[in-house]
Amino acid sequence: MNAFPRYVPGGLAFVDIETTGGPAQCESITEIGILQVDEDGMREWSTLVRPESRIPEYIQRLTGIDDAMVADAPRFADIAGEVFDRLDGRLFVAHNARFDHGHLRAAFRRAGLDMRPQVLCTVKLSRRLFPEHRHHGLDHLVERHGLMVADRHRALGDAQLLWQFWQKIHERFPPGYLEAMVRELIGRPSLPPHLDPEQIAGLPETPGVYLFYGERGGETDGELPLYIGKSTRLRSRVLSHFAADHQSDRELSLSQQVRHIEWIETAGEIGALLEEARLVKRLQPTHNRQLRRNRELCTWRLATDIVGDWRLELVHAADLDFGRRDDLYGFFRTRREATNRLRALARDHALCPPLLGLEKKPQGARCFGFQLKRCRGACHGGESPQAHALRLIEALHTLKVEHWTWPGPIGLREGEALHVIDGWRWLGTATDEAMLANILESGRPTFDLDIYKILIKAVKRLPILML
Ligand SMILES: [Zn+2]
Repeated sequence: MNAFPRYVPGGLAFVDIETTGGPAQCESITEIGILQVDEDGMREWSTLVRPESRIPEYIQRLTGIDDAMVADAPRFADIAGEVFDRLDGRLFVAHNARFDHGHLRAAFRRAGLDMRPQVLCTVKLSRRLFPEHRHHGLDHLVERHGLMVADRHRALGDAQLLWQFWQKIHERFPPGYLEAMVRELIGRPSLPPHLDPEQIAGLPETPGVYLFYGERGGETDGELPLYIGKSTRLRSRVLSHFAADHQSDRELSLSQQVRHIEWIETAGEIGALLEEARLVKRLQPTHNRQLRRNRELCTWRLATDIVGDWRLELVHAADLDFGRRDDLYGFFRTRREATNRLRALARDHALCPPLLGLEKKPQGARCFGFQLKRCRGACHGGESPQAHALRLIEALHTLKVEHWTWPGPIGLREGEALHVIDGWRWLGTATDEAMLANILESGRPTFDLDIYKILIKAVKRLPILML
């Protein structure tokens, strides 16, 4: 049994507190029990705490903690630092966690500390794991799972029960299942106000692409999505959008608007990346920060002029079969970006800017760069054209565009799917022979930089089939 789950890298803190029954806004805590579990094992710790007011009779009877016991105990402010260190970075696990977390968080704040742990409530966890049971109080858990009671209603005693409960469920359920459940509960958010929880329930934990829609019913109504994202685990990723803890203003406004979610499952990560790139470009969702367009996509091409001298020319994606050439250097979204990059290259390698077409200069004269010792003199015969060309080719090397080396289209196998690509273009993804034939017969899309970047990585990772 592996009761310390790897998916909680910082370890766990099973927490229970006792209070006077007073509100979180006052110093009501009378006892804190913490049971830390991580790869080093398990450690227990507890302390009494002196509250600001008297402990009511009925609470004294329930917990066994009376005024005399806490009379000499430290104030919360005196132990805040130590408690903080014991909880810091750990998953905060408590029964009815809102209570313990709320009291501690408020007490920390008064002591000048800001505690924001991820919180797992064992009431919610029990409810999810055992939906057939109505009651999930600690006494019900004790009875249901045969937990050993040592000190019921004392902080450490109750924290120990939660640790036992945790171990019992790990004996009973497969780890992957519990992980998914815990992740969901941790990230579990208040769902967007207009989103049907059924939609979330239907989301698979598989790779794929998801689309958030607002006002109307989704793509079938001709509506454009608010946002498109991809993940290797759709369900967790979608839930993470709504997790209150890491919500930026932007995420908040998105989750306020979401009314409908659609998704496309893919065979793996590459499929999800390709699908996302395609959909973002086609649908241009308002919340996707980068609306990447390729209209201006250009590259430097190294060619020889009529007298045989090497020269660089800027060519546009629309004018060239980018994927099949091996004389291209760098991809740039604008002419300005291309020029800036070349200028930087010239500076780093002491190349002559006028010869690269970056500046004009009178025939035979020395360029400005030469006067600054940034050019070795190719402009006025101080360096031979051949030597300059060789240095240029060497300098360009880092920018060289990946050459398409296959004679025709290839398939990349990812699970059950075959991504069909040709000349660094993604033609489509097939799951059977008929689809494959269809894809190979259909036309080829224009060159797309984002797809290219995904594919040059994909060919190194996925098995290749010649088609
Ligand atoms: Zn020069």
